[in-house]
Amino acid sequence: MMCQICGAVTEKGFTTSVTDLGTCLIIVRNVPCYKCTECSEVMYTGDVVRRLEQVIETAKRMTQEVSIIDFGRAA
Ligand SMILES: [Zn+2]
Repeated sequence: MMCQICGAVTEKGFTTSVTDLGTCLIIVRNVPCYKCTECSEVMYTGDVVRRLEQVIETAKRMTQEVSIIDFGRAA
């Protein structure tokens, strides 16, 4: 997978996804991603994006102001 911003090589890793929904903040840790070695842009595969959306959807139903979720355990 190449970087969509600068075209450099990306490497596999994990990141923390932060989604601000206005009324609440959803933090998902240990999300598998590809990180650009040049500009540090983070990219997700389609599978991860879909799973992340599901995790965020589930978290939204819980009425906490801040949700911290471990991707590995939630997905
Ligand atoms: Zn890049």
